[in-house]
Amino acid sequence: MATMLLDELQKRLPPECIQVDADVIQAYSQDRAVFEVAGTASILVMPGSTAEVVAAVEAANAADVPIVPRGAGTGLTGAANAVDGCMVLSLHRMNQILEIDTTNRTCRVQPGVINADLKVAVAEHGLFYPPDPASVEISSIGGNVATNAGGLCCVKYGVTRDYVMGLEVVMASGEVMRTGRNTIKSTTGLDLTGLFVGSEGVLGLITEITLKLVTAPPPPATAVAYFDTLEPAGNAIIEIFKQGHEPSLMEIVDRASLRQVEAVYPMDLDVDAACLLLMQTSGEDASTRIAEISDICTANGATFVYHVDDPHEGDMLIEVRRKVWPAFEALGKALLPEDVAVPRERLPELLAGITDIAERNQVMLPTIGHAGDGNMHPLLVFDGNDAEEVARVKTAFGEIIGLALSLDGTIAGEHGVGTLKKQFIEDELDPIQLRVQRSMRTLLDPAGRLNPGKAL
Ligand SMILES: Cc1cc2nc3c(=O)[nH]c(=O)nc-3n(C[C@H](O)[C@H](O)[C@H](O)COP(=O)(O)OP(=O)(O)OC[C@H]3O[C@@H](n4cnc5c(N)ncnc54)[C@H](O)[C@@H]3O)c2cc1C
Repeated sequence: MATMLLDELQKRLPPECIQVDADVIQAYSQDRAVFEVAGTASILVMPGSTAEVVAAVEAANAADVPIVPRGAGTGLTGAANAVDGCMVLSLHRMNQILEIDTTNRTCRVQPGVINADLKVAVAEHGLFYPPDPASVEISSIGGNVATNAGGLCCVKYGVTRDYVMGLEVVMASGEVMRTGRNTIKSTTGLDLTGLFVGSEGVLGLITEITLKLVTAPPPPATAVAYFDTLEPAGNAIIEIFKQGHEPSLMEIVDRASLRQVEAVYPMDLDVDAACLLLMQTSGEDASTRIAEISDICTANGATFVYHVDDPHEGDMLIEVRRKVWPAFEALGKALLPEDVAVPRERLPELLAGITDIAERNQVMLPTIGHAGDGNMHPLLVFDGNDAEEVARVKTAFGEIIGLALSLDGTIAGEHGVGTLKKQFIEDELDPIQLRVQRSMRTLLDPAGRLNPGKAL
């Protein structure tokens, strides 16, 4: 099979697109998921154009080989992991920003463009591309679209889906389809663009993306608030939204995370607080708004509140959130981030439930997350070589998912399903919806060639 695939590829593609070195193939065969074991790919293909993606798909069809699409491999669910005998199709060489249209405030990009590079390029035109996963410096726009990535500023600006206007997709058949629009509005036909956003590479290969941009907001104002129990923090969050505020960032860092950050990067944090809320506002009235939000925190029992207008000082305050992951990495243990989300008002119940799950299963489970979205990332920290501890971690992982669903939540706020959460998908999607989704997949990919075993 591998020989046949190589023959078919060599007939259609230049040598620089084809990689047969086993070590290189392996390096492109795994994303960042902890437990998910990748299969052994037979070949790595790195197209430089849509025509070359088409050629690669035609070769895979001729040789009857599965295709695993890959962006930058920063996914956390095994969605870009190779399956045995597959062709890994990495889009990293297609990394050109094709157009920035300042009149219509859009841009057209190839999928391999790194998110942070796009932000810098559009900023030169006074424009802003908001989606900002914490992996902004290392993840690709194609991967962001295929996972519907979120991030810190989603609470105000929305997720990747809210910015995708149109796509060019190479289908499993090798045909090239354009979806969406170049105009600000369009009501023609079904929303096929939306179907591909978050599809984790199972419906087609995204080869070009048209994105909406917004005007660059003025620098944000920032507030921090410590609480000595979780409940008042939850109440403050609810009250901030009830009073009509629109924070552009609202993150929570719990006590265990505060302690670990302080241990590795001393910055005078209150390590006895139950949690720290980090908030930003943007726009003309950012300063007034942040003061009002701070007052709400105080009125709801915050033990310490501080707010600043200076963006540099604000950035330093937000640094604690960015340091959580590296601080736990310093322990040299395995890290498994959860990604559940609940409606905002259920956040206190989610946080209390997570504490309970940690205690019952005796696992280390610090929690950080996008409090304004109700999207939490409890972080399982454990010794991956201790089978008994791994078993407890897996139990806790499943219990967090069950807890989120019991609170009207979702099993995957922004990281996707991949293989990591596939076993839980039937717990969230009802049989009718699941049947419709799987039928669409079969319609677009009758041979089941695209990213088999993932997502649905
Ligand atoms: C330190 C760190 C922090 C992170 N923080 C966040 C965060 O805050 N928010 C968040 O949402 N995620 C976060 N992530 C997860 C990850 O960065 C995102 O899921 C990201 O969108 C994946 O992009 P990628 O280019 O690495 O895609 P990959 O991991 O390579 O692929 C992801 C999925 O997309 C598919 N795919 C990729 N490109 C294409 C394409 N062109 N066409 C079709 N399918 C394609 C793959 O098959 C796979 O199913 C984080 C990851 C790390 C390591």
